Amino acid sequence: MPLSRRALVALPLALPALGRAARAQPAPLPVVASFSILGDMLREVGGDGLAMRVLAGPDVDAHSFQPRPSDAQALRAARLVVRNGLGFEPWLDRMLAAAGQQGRLVTASQGITPRQAGPADHGHSHGHSHGHDHDAVDPHAWQDLRLGQSYVRTILAGLQAADPAGAAGHAARAEAYLARLAALDAWVRAEIGRVPEARRVVVTSHDAFGYFGAAYGVRFIAPQGVSTAAEPSAAEVARLIRLLKREGITAVFLENMANPATLNRLAAEAGVTVKGRLYADALSSADGPAPSYEAMFRHNVGLLTAAMRG
Ligand code: ZN
Repeated sequence: MPLSRRALVALPLALPALGRAARAQPAPLPVVASFSILGDMLREVGGDGLAMRVLAGPDVDAHSFQPRPSDAQALRAARLVVRNGLGFEPWLDRMLAAAGQQGRLVTASQGITPRQAGPADHGHSHGHSHGHDHDAVDPHAWQDLRLGQSYVRTILAGLQAADPAGAAGHAARAEAYLARLAALDAWVRAEIGRVPEARRVVVTSHDAFGYFGAAYGVRFIAPQGVSTAAEPSAAEVARLIRLLKREGITAVFLENMANPATLNRLAAEAGVTVKGRLYADALSSADGPAPSYEAMFRHNVGLLTAAMRG
């Protein structure tokens, strides 16, 4: 479609010529977010003036996302692309290289100190089954609300640079949003603080909650590493079953976007019931329990504290 693509490219150039009327009712800013949680943050800061495309949508596993041709078109047309970084979206890095993307690229995790992914975090005595995870960085920094606030500030700066005319509005929305996230962070600390420390052990499908655990004082154990790409080995699953039985761990959770097979088997063999579905790497759809970043924390913390108390 060379004609329509040329029309798309020409559009931003034509805008300044439209004058006062156009500025009063600016055209939506085409933006792309790599996955649903960043899409929600971007919407909070950018408001209604965005024409947003979210690549890995609700309940989709962004680790193994398969982009469509229309995603590449959206990337080419975007004035701003927001990604997590820290190796979370290898497919996006390949797309960006191929798509000839012209707009601004924001890495939301920029400036944070990443956690190293590794068996040492989870009390493994040996980690050979984890192989390549040894030196990997943990990408799930949004699971700490203070780091989430850093994401929002980084997104604000990128949005203001891509859309200077809207800078004041973006700043005002970001300020209100950051205040809500700070209050939510305090609520999470208070809720977790009511659970006896010895009870704060949780099993999930993959290592998505390392930052959450470090921030809020919960120990998370998972049969899968920080990516969902590799299936856990039988030996790793057997080791976890022994651990559950030995320590009497009953807070076992599925994740909304991960394959439930391993976790269901693990829970059945350890004789515990799965306590529900945590939202790890993706939000729910609008009618689900975690349609926003904030709702995701309220939902997860409600489930976690009830299960940990036992
Ligand atoms: Zn993940």
